Amino acid sequence: MMKRSALFHATAFPLRHVMVPEKSIYQTVREIIFESVKDIGLDDALDGAMMETLKWIVFEKWNPKPKDALEEFGCPHCHQNVATLAYDQEKGQCPRCKGEIFITDMFGLHLNMQEDFAPNQVATDYMSVSETMMIFTPIRYFWENNKEVLKNCLMVKDGPLALRATLAKLSAPIRRFFKFAKEQGIEVAMIGQEKTGAFVDHLHLIGDKAPVGSIFIPNNTYIRAEIQHSNLAGIYGTDTNYGAKVFIKYNNYHKMVINVPTGERGEFVENPSVNKLIAIKKIIATLPKILSNRHEGALLPIELANGIASLSTYPSAKALELFSDALIKSYLIVDDSVRCI
Ligand SMILES: [Zn+2]
Repeated sequence: MMKRSALFHATAFPLRHVMVPEKSIYQTVREIIFESVKDIGLDDALDGAMMETLKWIVFEKWNPKPKDALEEFGCPHCHQNVATLAYDQEKGQCPRCKGEIFITDMFGLHLNMQEDFAPNQVATDYMSVSETMMIFTPIRYFWENNKEVLKNCLMVKDGPLALRATLAKLSAPIRRFFKFAKEQGIEVAMIGQEKTGAFVDHLHLIGDKAPVGSIFIPNNTYIRAEIQHSNLAGIYGTDTNYGAKVFIKYNNYHKMVINVPTGERGEFVENPSVNKLIAIKKIIATLPKILSNRHEGALLPIELANGIASLSTYPSAKALELFSDALIKSYLIVDDSVRCI
């Protein structure tokens, strides 16, 4: 079933040691990011859906009163914080320098690039954005066509519900979506499972002694002191996260760290409450049905998606074929974790 229904998305960036005639790396990577988000996929499978989803999120189209323009961001040409686009536009002109700007410039990935150099971070940041677009595409689809379906869906994402640094510009409207939907009586159930990192390390530390059938939401003080071991002031994940960190233990083998949206900013962790986690009762009741016994704390949908995204299948094989024929010999960044469940 997964093989038949999977959507794949792959792209390639010329990060270094590559020249594109008459264009700088800076310009080329910006254009590739923009064109990639407009990807129609193989056999028109994606049909430009990622760009539609991006616009749906940043202009907050779920709301009867959507945003009439994007919040101003740094222009990639004159570097002033004046770039913006009117409702539903994908590209336009900087009001100051008249340079061409793309909707994807709002992520500020160009801030880390030089004229002839782009760091690997650009590729991983792009992956975060495309993963987010892909998991929100079915949400947008059902929201626009039949909201009731969303009440019976659980969206499962591999990795945290968070977007780092400037990508966090997406987190704020996403939080607003979950809040808006909840106020409309539709709790959109989503989880992001963390497999690595400080929270998972902490699970290994406390998991064995935690009672069977328990849930634990760490608050800000606990996260800073016991998990991050940091003296950082401020609230953890305020701008970047759109889900709260939750430890769940079903039994000694099935315990995990998941992120669950709250519709609130990071202030949630100052005073966490299980009742603020959107659709948590449905989530807790559903997870036992999709547990995998193959690995500790594993979830079957993620395991299956990993299986079909393995390196022998489409993304890398097809992309390699395309690029071996291409005039540009570029470094290929293919990651198998861009997927939609
Ligand atoms: Zn400008």
